[in-house]
Amino acid sequence: MGFVTRRVPAYEGVRRIVKLVLGGRYLAAIAAVGVVSLALGGLAWLLKIPRVESFLLIFVLLVGGIAWRLGRGPAIAATAAVAVIADYFFIAPLRAFGFGSTSDVVGLVTAILAAAGVIQFVHVSRHREVLLQRRKELLQDVSPRIIQSLDAEEVLNTVAEATLRVIDYQHFRLYRWDESSGRLILVKSVARAESYEHTDWHTVTLSLGEGISGIAAQSRRALLVPDASLDSRMVYPKGTTRIPESIISVPMVTGDRLFGVLSLARMGARSLTDEDRRLMESIAAQTALALANAEQYAEAEQTIKALATIEALQPTDARLTDREVDNRIIQGFVDLSQADFATLRVLQADGRYHVQATGGRQWPESEAPTGAPLAADQVAWLADPHVTVYVADPETDAKLPDWARRGTHLAGVKASVFLPMHAGRRFVGFVGLYWRRPRWLRPQQLRRLQLVAAQAAIALDTRQVLERERGRAEALVELERARREFMQIASHELRTPLTVIRGYASLLEEGSLGEMPPAAQQAIRTLMDKSSEMRGHVERMLLLARLEDGATEQQMTELDLRTVVTDAVERVRPQLALKQGTVNVDLATTPLTIVGDPDRLATAVDNLLQNAVKFSAGPPDIEVTGDRADGHVRLVVKDHGIGIPAAARAQLFEKFYRVNDPELNNVVGTGIGLYLVRQVVEGHGGKVEVDSQPGQGSAFEIDLPFALEGATAPVEPAIP
Ligand code: ADP
Repeated sequence: MGFVTRRVPAYEGVRRIVKLVLGGRYLAAIAAVGVVSLALGGLAWLLKIPRVESFLLIFVLLVGGIAWRLGRGPAIAATAAVAVIADYFFIAPLRAFGFGSTSDVVGLVTAILAAAGVIQFVHVSRHREVLLQRRKELLQDVSPRIIQSLDAEEVLNTVAEATLRVIDYQHFRLYRWDESSGRLILVKSVARAESYEHTDWHTVTLSLGEGISGIAAQSRRALLVPDASLDSRMVYPKGTTRIPESIISVPMVTGDRLFGVLSLARMGARSLTDEDRRLMESIAAQTALALANAEQYAEAEQTIKALATIEALQPTDARLTDREVDNRIIQGFVDLSQADFATLRVLQADGRYHVQATGGRQWPESEAPTGAPLAADQVAWLADPHVTVYVADPETDAKLPDWARRGTHLAGVKASVFLPMHAGRRFVGFVGLYWRRPRWLRPQQLRRLQLVAAQAAIALDTRQVLERERGRAEALVELERARREFMQIASHELRTPLTVIRGYASLLEEGSLGEMPPAAQQAIRTLMDKSSEMRGHVERMLLLARLEDGATEQQMTELDLRTVVTDAVERVRPQLALKQGTVNVDLATTPLTIVGDPDRLATAVDNLLQNAVKFSAGPPDIEVTGDRADGHVRLVVKDHGIGIPAAARAQLFEKFYRVNDPELNNVVGTGIGLYLVRQVVEGHGGKVEVDSQPGQGSAFEIDLPFALEGATAPVEPAIP
């Protein structure tokens, strides 16, 4: 469509006119005038009408039609042609130029004026329609781009740019409706004139009904203010000087939902029209749709991000260092929120909240965590487990304590969110997220952030629990080490004086130190018995200490197990005699050769025999058999004592295990005897088993590898 007028050089103008006349609209216009003139001339001739001024009206209408179809230029040319034709053919003197009477002149001039009026009218209304058409086309061109934007930020940019193509504004403002704070927050401001550039429009947030945009949002209707400088409803940032301007505010709504308000300003009173308002309504509707789309897309994307973060914070990986956990937490929050700055503060042993990690899109890479530790009372405002502090306007929000307000002010922060992290009732830390541009957060977004905070709290808490556990485990290990050391020292220290005591007692018993009265002899016998018992305890303790220490190796040598057994039987006889018991020893006639540590084996057999005596209610009746079978040496110690309940058998050989039976309360013991037996036997590459019937007795069987005399292979010690 070519109704645009432009200044062109004169020769170029002539060239174009010639082209137009020869090839187009002008020729058509003149031709139309010619045809109508011929028709009217013919009609006048037929009807014998001498004057045809009255036909001028027909020409005026014709010229109007030409103006509509072909434009103003051809219409003017047509008018000139009409005037010439009318003067030459229809006004006396006929077939000559000139006027016969004044009334003819008046008639022709009136007709020309009427044609001019019609042309101008047609031109103006035609121009309007074309303009509207052009805007509509532009709108159709930009709508898909608005709708297709998947990122809210991109939507805002596209809308600002698209709007400019249809309305030449000086200031574009887009407010988002923030449900959480119940305010309209400016998220996009495009200033295209100096008078708008030097104002910080972001400082204004509006509640419903406040300011022109607030009113538009509340009424859900577009508003046109022809001269804002005279309108008392306008809300300006502090220190703004009012200028005459027109403003259009249009709410962005889809379904029932308010997304925000689009606001346009154009300098000069009445510079925006109802026409512009209608256009803006259309743009706003599309923007709302686009934002709804972008939101859904972002929703899905963020849910995935939140899940990924939660997954990354699972406390399954114990190898993660504290620093890695902190960084994962902060990274997760930054990914999810796109925060410009983020800070993680964690409760430390000193009861204060220290900055443990920092991050964010604008946080300088090299910058180390900053911020002094905060005392509990400084963060008490966050301690409520259900609170998430969302500050849309850090300048004015009363929720913020001094330290936070100072920080946000210094960093030029426009919005912030504080997410406390609770593990049970412990307030373990919190994350602060900050944005330099205004930021609105939907309730779902806040909920997602809270979810991640909950997971982060678990991660932090697990870490602290692990630390406590680690400390406890270390203390236990130390305690165990001290216990072993004590056992070793104690048993050693006891052994030497005990040997001396037993030596003298034995001299006394033998009468080497002079004849003893019978009462004293009895006492000395008891002394010998009890010291034997004590030696047994000391030997056991010592062996246990050595086994656990692992430092002392077994003294392996080739030996005949029969010797070990007969010696042990001799050692138990005094105890047996005290209970009037009997022992029946049945050993193979050939040597039971094995490779072993005679002292340790002796302790093991001692223990079995002593148990057989101890755990017999009446006089003990013990059978000891030793023979060879399948390349093994087998030793069985069998008693007819109280027996062992089946349930106890599994644990019988464990360290310090004793059968829990009230009847056994008066039987002394430590629960290490059988443990030692198993350790010693297994240390010799053998095994020990028990067979028992409660009330009937028990049989302990030891199997040891048989060694051919002279062909001994040393047995690997198998101490755990
Ligand atoms: P202690 O004899 O010092 O109690 P042991 O390790 O030698 O420790 O034995 C563990 C437990 O096994 C004993 O307390 C006892 O209840 C049970 N026990 C061991 N030998 C016998 C046995 N011959 N007859 C019945 N119970 C036995």
